[in-house]
Amino acid sequence: MAEKALAIDIGGSKLLTAIAELERSNEPTRKATARLLGISKRALGKDSGKEGVWSALTSAVDETLAKVGDVWSEISSIGATIPGVADPSKGLWVYAPFSGISDYPIGDLLRERYGRPVRADNDVNACAWAEKVFGVCAEVDNFLWITISNGIGGGLVLNGRVFPGKFAGAAEIGHFNVEENGALCGCGNRGCLEATAAGPAIARTYRETLAALAEGRCDDSELVAQWSAYRTGLGKASQGSGKDRETEPTAATIAEEARLGNPVAISVYRKVGKCVGRAASWAANLVNPEKIVIGGGVAGAFDLFYPSLWNALQKGLFKSANKTLTVEKTGLGYEAGLMGATAVAAVPY
Ligand SMILES: [Zn+2]
Repeated sequence: MAEKALAIDIGGSKLLTAIAELERSNEPTRKATARLLGISKRALGKDSGKEGVWSALTSAVDETLAKVGDVWSEISSIGATIPGVADPSKGLWVYAPFSGISDYPIGDLLRERYGRPVRADNDVNACAWAEKVFGVCAEVDNFLWITISNGIGGGLVLNGRVFPGKFAGAAEIGHFNVEENGALCGCGNRGCLEATAAGPAIARTYRETLAALAEGRCDDSELVAQWSAYRTGLGKASQGSGKDRETEPTAATIAEEARLGNPVAISVYRKVGKCVGRAASWAANLVNPEKIVIGGGVAGAFDLFYPSLWNALQKGLFKSANKTLTVEKTGLGYEAGLMGATAVAAVPY
């Protein structure tokens, strides 16, 4: 009978639950594999509040259990990921800026309802830990995990353990200042990496660059020439998806455009790499990691931003101490949050 855990991933806009079936290896690395069964999903609004989150959570867990069948007796632990500031020692959701939820004892509530040991932790730190347990860092004891999606977060594993800081807020690389007087960030500052390179920033930069080109305001002469040649080519061959003209562009559709040769989309992802690489060089000089791992939805475009990321990283890196540093895409797959919840539930750090 395989070991099972209940995994709960509370995100900013959605909540996911699953039963994770674990296989542990006998190796000293603690490397394990997990299969996610009966994944259920609920949407969460900004104003869901504690009651809304709790009712979404319990109904999703009920659905997951109904899908997987009679496995309750086999479940030995529960893991939950919290979006925002967390105190994992108390299972406390301290604060989430987007929803205003604060001082929510989610760990105690889950323990009372389901009668199993619970570990509730910050989502990005949980994902970093999952990379050690399930992903590409089994053999690595010092690494930085960066998630790029609607925001940018970071988790740090040092000497084989997550380094959370006081309120699980260590390695908040998304709020490194990479652009003087840049775009306003959700945290209140300007020019944060998150406001420059996360999904919404990718869409905004793309729209703004297209508008500047259309109005003759773009001061990048190389891009002006490339765009003109690309448009001419499109006219002749009717290539390109044309999605940017039909619907609002997203980080994912802009990545598709970049792969079709759209020079504006390519330049946007080049900028993402440049900004993330610059921030990564500061982080690397601070902690001297063996690896930097990139996860989150935007990691699907890893091949598009990796070259400029690597370039910018090298420009700022103290090379003699970081000769073997590598940057890799996450090995956790699409459901990284559920893998994070499983990792903190089943393998304490
Ligand atoms: Zn910020």
